[in-house]
Amino acid sequence: MKIREIERTALFKLLVRHLGCYQGDPTSQDLEKMAENRGRMLLIIRTRWILLLMLCAYGLYAGSLIFFSNPEHSHASFFLAMPAGILLAAVSFNLFYHLFYRELSHFALSNHIQILLDILITTSLIRYGGGISSPAWAIYPFLTIEATLLLERKRDTWLFCLATILAFGMLIMAETRENLSPAGFSPLTAGLRQGPIYALLLWTWTAVMTAAMTIIGSQIIGSNRRKELTLKQLVVKDQTTKLYNRSFFFKELNSEIQRSIRYNHVFSIIFLDIDHFKEFNDSYGHLEGDRALKELAGILRKNIRRSETNPPYDIDVPCRYGGEEFGVILPETPINCSASGNSAENGMNAVAFAERIRQEIESLRVQGKKITVSIGIASFPEHGNTPDELVKAADDALYEAKSSGKNRIFIAKGKVEPQNGISSSGLNTGSSYPWEPPNPASSELFPEL
Ligand code: GH3
Ligand code: MG
Ligand code: MG
Repeated sequence: MKIREIERTALFKLLVRHLGCYQGDPTSQDLEKMAENRGRMLLIIRTRWILLLMLCAYGLYAGSLIFFSNPEHSHASFFLAMPAGILLAAVSFNLFYHLFYRELSHFALSNHIQILLDILITTSLIRYGGGISSPAWAIYPFLTIEATLLLERKRDTWLFCLATILAFGMLIMAETRENLSPAGFSPLTAGLRQGPIYALLLWTWTAVMTAAMTIIGSQIIGSNRRKELTLKQLVVKDQTTKLYNRSFFFKELNSEIQRSIRYNHVFSIIFLDIDHFKEFNDSYGHLEGDRALKELAGILRKNIRRSETNPPYDIDVPCRYGGEEFGVILPETPINCSASGNSAENGMNAVAFAERIRQEIESLRVQGKKITVSIGIASFPEHGNTPDELVKAADDALYEAKSSGKNRIFIAKGKVEPQNGISSSGLNTGSSYPWEPPNPASSELFPEL
């Protein structure tokens, strides 16, 4: 029987009915919760493999060191067999959880059981791996991390913390009651405890535990960071075009205004609207329309400036403002080259950027059909000092571009003066915008302004 078929058996269903983490058939919320739990279980199972691998490697190393340096071989091999057996039990239990974690995620107590087993295994390992004076207690903090990750209720995490403290307390009590010397359950004889081998073992143990903590910590934190990033992307990005969404546009616009006021900088925003997009949808369907939106977004993404840092970030902010309307914030970018400021001297200007975008979109073919955009540009502080003023200015310019024939660029309160080679002016030298030679065919189509 295939493992995944277990969930369909009558016995599994019966068990779930009595011990499952949901009643009756699971709701979609239950399924979502279970999927999240499975992710956490897998993370713990993987980290347990790392820890077990390191413990086995250390056990082999320490065992052979003790075995070959201890004259009482029989005593040593007996006590070495115990930790080895415990590690084997831990490997089997982790293998079981790894194979069946999907099925186990249906049960309310499967996480509690695995933490309890871990406490039991760790306490036995301490008992038979050096006794109460053994530094093997350093494994306990891993269990706290495990409980924090696996259990939803804080109260349960604290209960397991208490269980761990009690387990160690009981171990200490048992060993003192039995009046055993710390070395009584240890492969380390009293003689060995004093010598350089003990010092070496202790140092190696600390190194192994520190390395394990680093690997496991970075695994867990790394996984959480990746999740955080995905969530952040979901919140700030539009899922069709993968461009930033409208609320992020306003947030960035606001902070760009604050920054530009503080440092006395200029910046521009451009607004794009696809021409006759309703017709396009009507002719080719909404799915093709969506494809056109994605292609257009790709052109925006390709042309924006990105930082060279690691990880890189977008300097210009391309957003999907609404249905088939897009906005791009261009920090430190004046309207055109005649404007003042260093950026202008470097050839970075909003008109050139907008024209390059316009041309690239014009040469794009979706379903063999050309699509064009109209563009409005506004600049801070020339056309407004607040997000609303700037957006209105760019929107008005866009409206003028539409009403004067579409497929053209207008600057707020005035139109773009005809420039020879406007699309490339200054951009091929010293510009940080990606530059491509203008398309000769489409440059003829540059609107008469
Ligand atoms: P104009 O040249 O004046 O801009 O005309 P238009 O047809 O582009 O403008 P209008 O505002 O009348 O229509 C916008 C269209 O955009 C309407 C809608 O079908 C389409 N649209 C908006 N959002 C989406 C989307 O997410 N996917 C698709 N496929 N189409 C969309
Ligand atoms: Mg529109
Ligand atoms: Mg439109």
